[in-house]
Amino acid sequence: MWKALSGVLATREALFSRKCAADLLCPFCKSRSESIEHMLLLCDWSRKIWYGSPLTLIINPMHISSFANWYDLFVADDSPITDYDKSYIACLCWNIWKTRSVSVFNAAAPNPSQVLISTAAAVNEFWKINHSLPNITRSSEIFNSVWKPPDSGIVKINCDGAFSEAKKMAAIGIIACDSSGSFLKGWRKVVDADSGFLSELLACKKEVQLASEFNEARLL
Ligand SMILES: [Zn+2]
Repeated sequence: MWKALSGVLATREALFSRKCAADLLCPFCKSRSESIEHMLLLCDWSRKIWYGSPLTLIINPMHISSFANWYDLFVADDSPITDYDKSYIACLCWNIWKTRSVSVFNAAAPNPSQVLISTAAAVNEFWKINHSLPNITRSSEIFNSVWKPPDSGIVKINCDGAFSEAKKMAAIGIIACDSSGSFLKGWRKVVDADSGFLSELLACKKEVQLASEFNEARLL
């Protein structure tokens, strides 16, 4: 986070300005300069992650002047954001950067579902170690919420599918959360689909199948 806030992450844009990269374009969408803001917040795959997370953040490019200014919204002294959500934001940023770097190294498309699963597991582990799960009530003033945790005793399962035109590959991801918004279980799988629509249909089908694993639980 310190590197991102200080503007010293080694994005393509930063490397290009130091004459250490042949171009400054984002390695995934190849349509924008890969700035810290683009990489962490604005590229299509990053935006899916913010929206697909329990924070359900819709990243509006018109509201992003810099990553540091965006982040200040959440950590300012008068911010209503809980410590739990701050930890979620930090973990999401870390996992986006980590996944971005591995994907660039492997010349592969990044997997938003995997970032969500890894982040949920890391945040859960962090708060378990601290033995003090804080209040996770979220303010709709900052979080333009669409996703909400289910009522007590209910497990909520969300799914998504994605198709990469460039790689001709499709994958699905499913995540289950409890009433505190905590991660319970997640799945991801490469599937045989030739469109985003078909991959989403397969995700829904798999979600219904996997829901049976929560034997006694009430599901949403
Ligand atoms: Zn991009």
